[in-house]
Amino acid sequence: MDTETLKASVIDQIDARSQELSDLALKIHSNPEPGFHEVKASTWLTQYLEENGFSIERDICKLPTAFRASYGKGRPIVAVLAEYDALPGVGHACGHNLICTIAIGATTGARLVADQLTGTIAVIGTPAEELYGGKILMADRGAFNDLDVVMMVHPGISDTATTYALACQNLDVEFFGQAAHAAARPEAGINALEAMIQSFNAINSLRQHIRSTARIHGIITDGGQAPNVVPDHSAGTFIVRAMDDTYLDELEQKVLNCFIGAATTTGARLEYKWNDVRYAAMKNNLTLAKLFAGNMKPLGRKIKLSASGRSFGSTDMGNVSQLVPAIHPSVAIAPREVLLHSPQFATAAATDAGIKGMLDAAKALAMNIVDLLADPDTLSKVKEEFRQGK
Ligand SMILES: [Zn+2]
Ligand SMILES: [Zn+2]
Repeated sequence: MDTETLKASVIDQIDARSQELSDLALKIHSNPEPGFHEVKASTWLTQYLEENGFSIERDICKLPTAFRASYGKGRPIVAVLAEYDALPGVGHACGHNLICTIAIGATTGARLVADQLTGTIAVIGTPAEELYGGKILMADRGAFNDLDVVMMVHPGISDTATTYALACQNLDVEFFGQAAHAAARPEAGINALEAMIQSFNAINSLRQHIRSTARIHGIITDGGQAPNVVPDHSAGTFIVRAMDDTYLDELEQKVLNCFIGAATTTGARLEYKWNDVRYAAMKNNLTLAKLFAGNMKPLGRKIKLSASGRSFGSTDMGNVSQLVPAIHPSVAIAPREVLLHSPQFATAAATDAGIKGMLDAAKALAMNIVDLLADPDTLSKVKEEFRQGK
């Protein structure tokens, strides 16, 4: 059978199971579970994959809600990632109930023609994208080492084949001063809150002279206990983001200098800690992205190749994309004015438009799998682009 006939058959397969996929997406939507607690979602997803002939490894990378499902033999291995964590308080406001059903729709659909393809189709269940950057832990533990291609689709407000995501790292800061009566003996105090305020002002000055794509933002988590006591302790947490790792290194030092300067001028002692988890920028494989865009077209979606210049923020998929050729396209499920992580987006993730987006993305990803496993030349182009580091 030629590739086009295989693709047509995959689309029919996904249409035939659209009700099952929709039911599963809505069931996960109404049972939101935060990062590393996605017990129901990972159980339901692995059950579905197992019923469809996939072999399942549970608890991979020492993470109880992570899994790997495979169908086929040997290389190449084309993997689709499934996220299924929700956000505390707002449920599936990032639409991860659709990401995981896109993954299982695409792979169980493609699996029905897999015997006419070469290689293995895999689903990697990747927990805790939102709160802990689960894929960064999984990457450190080797989860993606043997894969040839990694793909996933995120629901959003536009159809876009590439994602613009920033490298980023969190910084926790504390200042220690000297408590004193704020009116009777102010000269004896060392004001830890003033050190924090000066740090914010220094960062605001720095912000005028950084690249427009970089971001620095933070909050004060302790600013003292009473207005008549000179605060002897202040604390804050900050995030520094940049388009690439080299600029992130540079910017991190500049941000740190703002705190060091404030400690010097106030006399407060500074303690700080960079978070162990560092998000990498997204490296979009354009060969894969163009393939995806081409496969979305017959479904009636006009997909843009590149994002409008507005960042997605940061995602742990960035770290995966530095190891394996990858794409993280977006499929529209809501109008442009709806914000990700808002209650309105959570609602959108359970509407007919949400389900339609999920099914279209599953079909296009399934067609990408067919293209990659049917034609070794396509896969070599993807790999060549990755090797050249474009
Ligand atoms: Zn999110
Ligand atoms: Zn998300």
